[in-house]
Amino acid sequence: MSLIVQKYGGTSMGSPERIREVARRVERFVKEGHQVVVVVSAMSGETNRLLALAKELNPDPDPRELDVIASTGEQVSIGLLALALHKLGVKAKSCTGFQVRILTDDAYSKARILSIDEENMRRDLATGHVVVVAGFQGIDAKGNITTLGRGGSDTTGVALAAALTADECQIYTDVDGVYTTDPRVCPDARRLDTITFEEMLELASLGSKVLQIRSVEFAGKYKVKLRVLSSFTDVNSTDMGTLITFEEDQNMEQAIISGIAFNRDEAKITVVGVPDRPGVAFAILGPVADANIEVDMIIQNASIEGMTDFSFTVHRNDFKRTMQILESNVKPAIGARAIVGDDKIAKVSLVGIGMRTHAGIASKMFRSLSEERINIQMISTSEIKTSVVVDEKYMELAVRVLHKAFELDKPATEERMKA
Ligand code: ADP
Ligand code: ASP
Ligand code: MG
Repeated sequence: MSLIVQKYGGTSMGSPERIREVARRVERFVKEGHQVVVVVSAMSGETNRLLALAKELNPDPDPRELDVIASTGEQVSIGLLALALHKLGVKAKSCTGFQVRILTDDAYSKARILSIDEENMRRDLATGHVVVVAGFQGIDAKGNITTLGRGGSDTTGVALAAALTADECQIYTDVDGVYTTDPRVCPDARRLDTITFEEMLELASLGSKVLQIRSVEFAGKYKVKLRVLSSFTDVNSTDMGTLITFEEDQNMEQAIISGIAFNRDEAKITVVGVPDRPGVAFAILGPVADANIEVDMIIQNASIEGMTDFSFTVHRNDFKRTMQILESNVKPAIGARAIVGDDKIAKVSLVGIGMRTHAGIASKMFRSLSEERINIQMISTSEIKTSVVVDEKYMELAVRVLHKAFELDKPATEERMKA
């Protein structure tokens, strides 16, 4: 007998029929003799609906109340799934984050899990229950309801698996695993049987929303065996989805590039005509950091006659606020000529641990984009990724062009690895 944590996302829970299917799948694992903890998301579209409702009543909502509202979608889901399980004769008990005692910090809408009390869950498992836990939510030390950021039910799933030292955490979603890129954008995307933890972490942090980044971080920290699978297969399917692995196995498929991530969440800001002298980068980014705004890519041009341009990206939600800070504080303080912003950009990233040992990946990337006349506005590299910023309208084209150029539609072969 093993202990399995299964997480079902919004589409998997999207209708009464889908919930019945989830219940049937859970029943299968119970009948096979496993103990099962199920984490569920709100029904698809529900969290968006709730947040829109809140903003209709108050365009500048109090974050505490917003979390009270946003967390309710998951509460409905746990009750519904418990009822569907009862109907099948499976003993099941629903639990909110508060009832489990998923303790988080107090950063509303992006809270971090601090600890999980597994006592109540263990008791219910011991009496033969399936425990159905609400994803995405917790409580802070003062008992306030918090939420874990969009896509946060993944993190609840992996964190519970870590707390319970479960044998496996299965993330059921509307695709049958992790692909070389989002199959919705690139029809040639190929499912990967395995992906290393490091690559998954990079893909998630660069925008692949198939797993929330914090769930991957948790899996890494506590060595949770994590798998992504489809809830749309037959409930008796033995398909294994994609396994996130921790060791670079010699026999494992080892492509130089394992995937392409993209996101439209950033905006670019350029401070034009900046005097090129010590302390200027700090004068520009200091006030931005003081306002708790995270900066991603940064570029400073070579200076001409002592003047230069300084560009950086921030999250699109922080764009207006950053522009205001620069206009009102920074521009007069450093005597910059202008502040120019563009929130119609996208970041496209190649990810692969093979980049460590293979040169020429970036130049092949740039050549492929230039052949399609896609202008690269910014570049950033690390050991296992190369990212470019392009005009948002070319994002999908860029993903498809790169997918083809790096032959990601084909399994890694010796030949391709040498290419
Ligand atoms: P859930 O509601 O189950 O949490 P999400 O919509 O959050 O599902 O995540 C699944 C989606 O992630 C897929 O439908 C797919 O469009 C998207 N996705 C992005 N990148 C990838 C990738 N590399 N592999 C698979 N799916 C991806
Ligand atoms: N319901 C939440 C969201 O839509 C959490 C999740 O689905 O993981 O972001
Ligand atoms: Mg998700």
